[in-house]
Amino acid sequence: MSKFDYLIVGAGLYGATFAHLAYKQGKKCLVIDRRSHLGGNIYCESIEGINVHKYGAHIFHTSNKQVWNFVNSIVEFNRYTNSPVANYQGKLYNLPFSMNTFYQVWGVTTPAAAIAKLEEQKAEAVAKMKADGATEPRNLEEQAQLLIGKDIYEILIKGYTEKQWGRKCTELPAFIIKRLPVRLIFDNNYFNDKYQGIPVGGYNKLIDGLLEGVETKVGVDFFDNRDYWESIADKILFTGKIDEFYDYKFGMLEYRTVSFKQEIHDCPNYQGNAVVNYTEREVPYTRVIEHKHFEMFGTAVNECPITVISKEYSTEWEPGMESYYPVNDERNNALAEQYRTLAIQEKNVIFGGRLAEYRYYDMHIIIEKLLTNRFE
Ligand code: FAD
Repeated sequence: MSKFDYLIVGAGLYGATFAHLAYKQGKKCLVIDRRSHLGGNIYCESIEGINVHKYGAHIFHTSNKQVWNFVNSIVEFNRYTNSPVANYQGKLYNLPFSMNTFYQVWGVTTPAAAIAKLEEQKAEAVAKMKADGATEPRNLEEQAQLLIGKDIYEILIKGYTEKQWGRKCTELPAFIIKRLPVRLIFDNNYFNDKYQGIPVGGYNKLIDGLLEGVETKVGVDFFDNRDYWESIADKILFTGKIDEFYDYKFGMLEYRTVSFKQEIHDCPNYQGNAVVNYTEREVPYTRVIEHKHFEMFGTAVNECPITVISKEYSTEWEPGMESYYPVNDERNNALAEQYRTLAIQEKNVIFGGRLAEYRYYDMHIIIEKLLTNRFE
């Protein structure tokens, strides 16, 4: 007789939510993780009372009321609203592109004036392309200028995108940018979703709440003793890398990654906002995250005398590095499909989450999937 109904490999949001739902149905679960902590990529390290998002800034947002009610039943969420600011050559611009941005770039004060300016700039981009004999945008630069015009492209898109991809926009394919949403209102809320926020007390509270009553072990790698782990449970939920599960038999899936340089500053407020994008090519990092602003508002900011920031650098991924974003090119998509074909044949193993499915998922999608799907 197996000791557990489920062995859950990976204590990230997928594993923890699955464990929570299974436990509520009376299933006996063991969650293991190779890292030294629970939470996967949403784990926060506490530095002098500031929750530092160790694996990149995470903002929960959703329009699904069931998902929102579910996470709030585990831990209350605060009223954080993501309103990033862009710094270009020392001047600040609001994101996403809104009336505030158009005012900052062109000095226009009404939606009609903003539309006129946008149309004028788009027409210039079309004329330039035609003069070069092109009928379709031939690269990302042309595509972006057709969608938003030259000025905003130069200030807010060009340098940032080149840093992200490590290549010039003229060398990047046009399809990377399909649309660039434009808002003709003075609204800096980055997301269009109905609900957003950060768990009060940080993401570890969400994970701890999900895993309440569930047995967990950290610092334990499934592959170090695979036979043993496979023998102790009727079923396995695997949230690690699908290619690793199959010993890379078809080849290794690739990722894009980001590296973080963390700094502690002896001041209560470093940049006045959680997220500042650096959009010029010459600044080597893409964003600076000031973690306290996710959870401290108003006078609470100054009551905490220090602050922690993370500078984000786009980095070429190599095996062994943190695997953040799947690369959805032809090679990797085909490879992932080969592994998925094997995965669906498994009788006792369920594959779930961003690494096992080789798909980028926002947090709310993970919760939505688990609340909707039934696993036996
Ligand atoms: P993970 O969190 O990666 O968990 C998988 C776990 O499995 C890991 O802890 C790993 O150590 C463990 N594991 C793997 N292999 C083994 C093994 N062999 N043995 C034991 N354990 C193993 N989403 C949003 O909604 N909003 C955001 O703002 C946002 N920002 C993001 C920023 C970045 C930089 C990234 C990369 C993602 C962001 N996301 C965001 C997405 C979010 O991180 C994911 O939705 C979520 O973390 C996925 O959870 P998961 O459980 O699938 O994966």
